[in-house]
Amino acid sequence: MTQLELARSGIIPPQVKHVAEVEGTEINFILQGLIDGTIVIPANPNHAKLTPCGIGKGLRTKVNANIGTSSDFFDLDTELKKLQAAVDAGSDAVMDLSTGGDISAIRRAIINTSSVPIGTVPVYQAGIEAIERHGAIVNMTVDEIFNAIEEQAEDGVDFMTVHCGVTQASVARLKNQGRTTGIVSRGGAFHTAWMLHNDEENPLYQYYDRLLDLALKYDFALSLGDSMRPGSITDASDRAQIEELIIQGELVKCAREAGVQVFVEGPGHLPLDQVASNVQLEKNLCRKAPYYVLGPLVTDIGAGYDHITGAIGGAIAAAAGADFLCYVTPAEHLSLPDMEDVKQGVIASRLAAHAGDIVKGVKGAREWDEKMSRARKNLDWETQARLSLDPQLSHQIHSRIPSAEKTCSMCGKYCAMAIVEKYLNSPAIKH
Ligand code: SF4
Repeated sequence: MTQLELARSGIIPPQVKHVAEVEGTEINFILQGLIDGTIVIPANPNHAKLTPCGIGKGLRTKVNANIGTSSDFFDLDTELKKLQAAVDAGSDAVMDLSTGGDISAIRRAIINTSSVPIGTVPVYQAGIEAIERHGAIVNMTVDEIFNAIEEQAEDGVDFMTVHCGVTQASVARLKNQGRTTGIVSRGGAFHTAWMLHNDEENPLYQYYDRLLDLALKYDFALSLGDSMRPGSITDASDRAQIEELIIQGELVKCAREAGVQVFVEGPGHLPLDQVASNVQLEKNLCRKAPYYVLGPLVTDIGAGYDHITGAIGGAIAAAAGADFLCYVTPAEHLSLPDMEDVKQGVIASRLAAHAGDIVKGVKGAREWDEKMSRARKNLDWETQARLSLDPQLSHQIHSRIPSAEKTCSMCGKYCAMAIVEKYLNSPAIKH
């Protein structure tokens, strides 16, 4: 039985117990969330080293890091180091988006090494193999798409991005709409090219039941991909994007009825004032399914600093109810990320997630900040470093210009907190 089938039959799956323990919440809360579909625990039984992680309502906002090779650079050792860098920086999940080298071998090595849930986009593999076999992605067969999904499920992939929501209807809306940046989802582009060339419906939509059967057989979660996500703020919240979201909502309903765990992917690029409304729309249209957003990036001009533009949008999205943030790295739009990019991206997204958690009232979030503030007031540099997301960097910057006082070198002997503390506690002051 799948995790969800166990839960629905009244048996508490071990993953539920684990998530309740790490989130510091009641088992019944997690169990009910899993049954309702507001909480997803991606946990493929074939992923031997997995430590389960819950995503959804009432839980700490989670962060995903994308790693993986490209056709220009493929080295397994580098990807395993990026995996380690992501986990060390506190990423809750990792997606292997490899499109270069021996894709299957890379994926298996990542799964076999990882304790965090692993996600993939199987159509990458199907598309690339179609080029090798048939000369073009548009010649990919329906069976080849499903075979890639099954192969990856057997390997132990915990959640898969499946672009089921891009249909002939949503492509027609895209054409009719006109866009600045067209389609920026790689998987979405593969499907759209295939559909237009073959004049057929998207196989993942047309044969959605076949996909649900595989998800049930291997117990992986579906992450409904957003092929129509805006790739620029001028394209944000347009008809094509909302058309796909409506379809995603219908697909959430079908997945839940079939007993498959499902969450929904979202933008992308959104101006600041559209972030919260996009989250609310997803929650309404997709029956409160966990929302997994990429960024969102709140401006298009952040090249080299897009981990910051993504974190600004991510914080607002998380505060508005987004459950899962896909990181953006400084290399976004420019290059395949390296290990340092991975670290910077995870930390920026974790800050965004935590800022959202303070507003959401997630257990322990505000307390963490209070501890940091007390340590700051006490000029307790060890505790400040320990409570920071990057203790090594905190130590390094603090010791860069040593202060003659117990304070830091910013204000030295004129430290505001030290001065006020001295006089506030002076017995000479009468209250
Ligand atoms: S010296 Fe200035 S910056 Fe440093 S702890 Fe004191 S008030 Fe803060």
